Amino acid sequence: MRLTFLGTGTSQGVPLLTCSCRVCTSPDPRDRRFRSSIWIEEGPLSLIIDTSPDFRSQALRASIPHLDAVLYTHSHADHIAGFDDLRSYSVKNGNRIPIYADPFTLSRLEKAFDYAFDLKVRSPAYVCPEPHPITGPFSLGPLTFTPLPVPHGRITTTGFRVDLQNQPRLVYLPDCAAVPQEIRNLIRKIPTLIIDGLREDPHPTHLTIAQAIEISQDIQAGQTWLTHLTHQTLHAERDATLPPSVRLAYDSLQLTL
Ligand SMILES: [Zn+2]
Ligand SMILES: [Zn+2]
Ligand SMILES: [Zn+2]
Repeated sequence: MRLTFLGTGTSQGVPLLTCSCRVCTSPDPRDRRFRSSIWIEEGPLSLIIDTSPDFRSQALRASIPHLDAVLYTHSHADHIAGFDDLRSYSVKNGNRIPIYADPFTLSRLEKAFDYAFDLKVRSPAYVCPEPHPITGPFSLGPLTFTPLPVPHGRITTTGFRVDLQNQPRLVYLPDCAAVPQEIRNLIRKIPTLIIDGLREDPHPTHLTIAQAIEISQDIQAGQTWLTHLTHQTLHAERDATLPPSVRLAYDSLQLTL
């Protein structure tokens, strides 16, 4: 299974518009962060988690040739705003793009992009979403996805545990304020953990870097990658001070799992 980080930034991305801080002006490409999203490939299966406002640029940069499905974590704008650029992928599939989201997120997508979900008005040349409400674990090709509901301020986001051949391989939790005990029990000893590591200071809807490290150590994760990063984190400086099993993710990084 191959994973590509399409984006590792927080909701406004990095650089932040109008900002000239040392991270926003850094020449290190790892300090340029599109909004958070990942691309997973397993054999011919190709899927992404979330369609960020940067989705079009991300898909061009990574050369995503086709998509069999799109999974959504939640309906905040930084995770859904690129939905309309699924058009070419939908057309390529014969005017269908399977969408997996929890029922609340699906209802928000239907509201935000009513022209695509309303069969009476939509043109086949637009995105033709095929909604799949997530109510429990589901499979796509050889991969099984276990939804992991986690608190994110006033809403709950759906993280995912990805199993290949019944072996848990990956956990993706980009937006969360905590990881409750029952979820920790589902992800113990996961070989690869990708988790919200927003910044150093506490935030009502996101984990701090220290909180993310605590969770990684508590569940005895293998390699841990922090994502959803702000312009307060200078890659080279902060990455060098993390525990050996924890690293900052960066855009275009690819992992073989
Ligand atoms: Zn977000
Ligand atoms: Zn800045
Ligand atoms: Zn969010």
